Amino acid sequence: NTRKFFDINQLIDDIIFIMSSLVHDKNIKIEKRSELKNSLLYGQPEKIKQVFINLIRNSIEAINCNGKITIILQEDGNYLLMSVKDNGCGIDRETIKNIFKPFYTTKETGTGLGLSISAQIIKEHQGEIWVDSERGIGTTFKIKLPRN
Ligand code: ADP
Ligand code: MG
Repeated sequence: NTRKFFDINQLIDDIIFIMSSLVHDKNIKIEKRSELKNSLLYGQPEKIKQVFINLIRNSIEAINCNGKITIILQEDGNYLLMSVKDNGCGIDRETIKNIFKPFYTTKETGTGLGLSISAQIIKEHQGEIWVDSERGIGTTFKIKLPRN
């Protein structure tokens, strides 16, 4: 878990490949949109990978079938803005207050750890994570990470 420079575009492509069978089984389309001129980030790539796996797994679980997951990479000054957007069930306002708490889950066999671990990893990278969601429309998790 050493810190180093890595290519976030490449990392997302690897994750899309890793998740492809899970996604195909539910007839979900997954795509990446990158607007980055420079896709180098400094940090712990294995941990950032874990964050995206957690978010995409949640999106898959939120979609019944025939859904879509879009990963968007954008520049924002000295930050990278990364979004994971799905058209799944969405999250209501009351639930949103709790989702980053350890062990909070709405799933029968959930651990409730995915988002709290992800938030911890983003914090270790001096970044921010937040969510926009609408019940019945979908959910977008956004992550802002400093470049250096
Ligand atoms: P778990 O997936 O084990 O329940 P997480 O920490 O990953 O734990 O997520 C916590 C809760 O946040 C989930 O139980 C679910 O209610 C909600 N959630 C997270 N991501 C999504 C999403 N993309 N769409 C709808 N609900 C979500
Ligand atoms: Mg989860």
